Amino acid sequence: MSESEFDIIRTYFSNIGDSPDWLITGVGDDAAIVSTNPEQQLLVAIDTMNVGIHFPVNTSPEDIGYKSLAVNISDIAAMGGQPLWFTLALSLPEIDHAWLKGFASGLSDMAKCFKLDLIGGDTTRGSLSITIQIAGVVENGKALQRSGAQPGDDIYVTGYLGDAAAGLQCIQQGSGRYTTRQKDLINRLHRPTPRIEVGKRLVEHASACIDLSDGLASDLRHILEASAVNGAVGAELNLDSIPLSESFRNIGLGQETCQNLALTGGDDYELCFTASSSERETIESISQQTGCLISRIGQTTQTPGLFVIDQQQKKVITTLGFDHFASS
Ligand code: ADP
Ligand code: MG
Repeated sequence: MSESEFDIIRTYFSNIGDSPDWLITGVGDDAAIVSTNPEQQLLVAIDTMNVGIHFPVNTSPEDIGYKSLAVNISDIAAMGGQPLWFTLALSLPEIDHAWLKGFASGLSDMAKCFKLDLIGGDTTRGSLSITIQIAGVVENGKALQRSGAQPGDDIYVTGYLGDAAAGLQCIQQGSGRYTTRQKDLINRLHRPTPRIEVGKRLVEHASACIDLSDGLASDLRHILEASAVNGAVGAELNLDSIPLSESFRNIGLGQETCQNLALTGGDDYELCFTASSSERETIESISQQTGCLISRIGQTTQTPGLFVIDQQQKKVITTLGFDHFASS
């Protein structure tokens, strides 16, 4: 039996506690939703980055600091929230001031982008590991969740997909000397852009939303699983509509590899969301207001399964995105 991190979470960690009234959504979405006052709800998310798994061994401390916070902010974006503050639990093999200075500088750069305060944490000795917990707020009852998709909803993504996975390939196969295009892709891997402005504007327009950390195929499945109660259990994606950046298309990987990476590669931290077809003009104007590319890539269906339409042919997607325990 192949076990996934999601099986572990479901089996061991999804039923601890009595689900009090103030807990609107617990385990299972991009952030928990906690009711604090009549106007606003608190959003809480946490993510860990481990050396050699979440970032290659030679990643600069500035990039590690920047990305550790960016991926957490992205979870608040996926809920349509405004991030407020974060805490940091840092495990370090040794005291290395040059490394710490770089890490703090990257962390601070990302914090400034969204005016966030670091309000506490914990520092210990051990293998390099960074855990950030973030809190944000959303207007009462307005959080975007994974569970709202209806059958026949449009499926959208922000930005370009596959860049980060291609950037990782460049690092894994490269000599350390990179072309401008390769540097672009590596930068997308190390410095994702949390889509807070888009997420906030999607409130009341998107029916479901998730951020893409493990890859489109894997993360869209989370929306479908959570939205199965509404009958939205499958999806059809138009392969030609999946947005690929200029650098990605011209890096010499070939069209099929590019499309596969865009479908299954992780670390893009773009938003994937669904919305009724009556929202098309609004989504278009959100794209214009924020200057963020938003592409309509398919539709949810009542037929189970994830399919791609490639030149009139319908193919089922069998490959999944990243799973920490997939090969164990
Ligand atoms: P994301 O990719 O958005 O960070 P994850 O896939 O890591 O989300 O987690 C899915 C859901 O499971 C989230 O709601 C998360 O809070 C929850 N979760 C993950 N690990 C644990 C754990 N060890 N204990 C409790 N909840 C967990
Ligand atoms: Mg997420």
